[in-house]
Amino acid sequence: MRMKTIDLVVPCYNEEAVLPLFYEEVSEVAGKRPEFDFRFLFVNDGSRDGTLKTVLELAKRDERVKYISFSRNFGKEAAMLAGMKYSSGDYVCILDADLQHSPELILDMLDALESDPALDVAAAKRSDRDGENKFKSAFSRQFYKLINKMSSVDIPQSAQDFRVMRRKVVDAVVSLPEYHRFSKGIFSWVGFNTRWFDHENRQRAAGETKWSFGSLLSYAVDGIIGFSVMPLKISLALGTACSFVGLVYAAYIIVRTLVSGSDVAGYPSIICAILIIGGLVLLSLGIIGEYLARIYLEVKHRPVFLIDQTNIDPMGK
Ligand code: UDP
Ligand code: MG
Repeated sequence: MRMKTIDLVVPCYNEEAVLPLFYEEVSEVAGKRPEFDFRFLFVNDGSRDGTLKTVLELAKRDERVKYISFSRNFGKEAAMLAGMKYSSGDYVCILDADLQHSPELILDMLDALESDPALDVAAAKRSDRDGENKFKSAFSRQFYKLINKMSSVDIPQSAQDFRVMRRKVVDAVVSLPEYHRFSKGIFSWVGFNTRWFDHENRQRAAGETKWSFGSLLSYAVDGIIGFSVMPLKISLALGTACSFVGLVYAAYIIVRTLVSGSDVAGYPSIICAILIIGGLVLLSLGIIGEYLARIYLEVKHRPVFLIDQTNIDPMGK
């Protein structure tokens, strides 16, 4: 019987410090399951340090090491997509290069998938947020509450990108052509039978996190705009409510003028009304602008990533 193949997709951005450790530790874990054929698929996301050099050295030493190197930094979403597109394994596992995702869990996930044919995805969610900035984790909790309320996708709190998927799931994810990718939403949107594994995040083995608060915020906006039109509906509702209040107030003024004549008082209320309505108009325009900007980028049909070099033959896979 043919050995089942597993592609480990690893997005890497400035990870030279941790890659050798990662390779050692994951190789050791893979060695515990000789019945599977493991392959590494490193995606170098335009690193500015020696990541590519390290990957090339690993590839020279070990023929299980495949790589894709981007022409510049395209972001983790693009790196995951590239890895999945170029993968060919029966299973595909996505995990971070920094060893925060415990490689041991891959074996549990694989066992679950092997023993239950009805299961299609084994995914990790964080059981704790220890060791993370308090502000960052509060922000992230609110984000998941909001996106689950606002959109039809259902993303568990603390869902991670760390997962093992069957081929059919990977094909489904790759078939979504959108430019602005929010994988957690996409994984949920494509469906399939998923089991969640609790996972305690480990400390980053080396190097440092690539996420600033600004990039987290833009990731959150991408998620909400990409999977929900609720902000547009809210601005419509607010606009409607304001117009209604305005109309009622106008009727009141007309009646009052007819009854007791006109006066020129009311300057503060006019200023308030102008500020509130003006603010709402600008807010709504901004929200529409966000959607418009995304439509603009989508219709350009630009590729999500550009490859500079790789040792994978996309035809032969
Ligand atoms: N990453 C990437 N491109 C980027 C930023 C990050 O490929 O533009 C990779 C990074 O190398 C790591 C993973 O995404 O393997 C998660 O990044 P990081 O550890 O910085 O995020 P955190 O764990 O702090 O959320
Ligand atoms: Mg990390």
